[in-house]
Amino acid sequence: MSEFKLLVTGCKGRMGQAVISAAEAQGVAVGASMDVGDSLSEALPKCSCTIDFSSHHFTKELLAESLRLGKGLVIGTTGHTDEELALIKEASKTIPVVFASNFSVGVNTLFWLTRKAAELLGPDFDLEVVEMHHRMKKDSPSGTARTLVEILAGVRGLDYDTDCRHGRFGDVGARTPKEIGVHALRGGDVVGDHTVVFANLGERVELTHKASSRDTFAGGAVRAARWLADKPAGLYDMQDVLGLK
Ligand code: NAD
Repeated sequence: MSEFKLLVTGCKGRMGQAVISAAEAQGVAVGASMDVGDSLSEALPKCSCTIDFSSHHFTKELLAESLRLGKGLVIGTTGHTDEELALIKEASKTIPVVFASNFSVGVNTLFWLTRKAAELLGPDFDLEVVEMHHRMKKDSPSGTARTLVEILAGVRGLDYDTDCRHGRFGDVGARTPKEIGVHALRGGDVVGDHTVVFANLGERVELTHKASSRDTFAGGAVRAARWLADKPAGLYDMQDVLGLK
């Protein structure tokens, strides 16, 4: 069998650089890397699987080429439109795809704890998610905050699009028991902080994760690519990779 080789897309970016270092640390060969202006159709045939941390605008092209060549894909990019999300889902019927808003072990533990806490604390607790990232981040709220809200909404039987409120400005009245608040802070060089607040009358529970290095995401993405190598077509997330399901 030929050697397992990675294609790193968005290779000049913060995460792309971290993925190249993580691959080296885990002894995984990088067969090619590309950024804006480079040819995907030249790079992908040299590799077994792609790790993508670039832009959601690139996802359509990357999926089409991966489908054409039958290559697996690890997508870390966030901020996708509904149409792009549907394309990812469709492609995963033919090729294996790991798609995760966060590749760190700590955040995936936070996802697990969030579901458990929401189930245990019950419907009387108000739910708010607060995230903070560096000043360069393009999408808001973060993909991780979105996943946290989707977990909370799932436990409460709520809908992400209709029951979640981004920020709270002006004369908006008291919060309703149904809503889930999402708040995005931007500044400095914060790698990624997420807090889930469960607030009731007289008490409050807060679950917080703080990332201080991108290496935690990059190492998880390389681990996901190695895990994906012998998997059939399907849509997987980091909980599958870590065996948390
Ligand atoms: P960045 O801006 O530092 O890097 C993105 C890179 O992608 C840039 O070099 C850019 O030129 C390149 N790029 C853009 N369009 C491209 C295209 N069409 N073809 C090839 N390359 C292209 O951003 P970043 O901080 O590295 O983050 C990248 C993405 O990863 C963002 O969506 C971010 O939210 C996400 N992210 C996810 C996780 C996770 O664990 N899932 C962690 C951190 C960041």
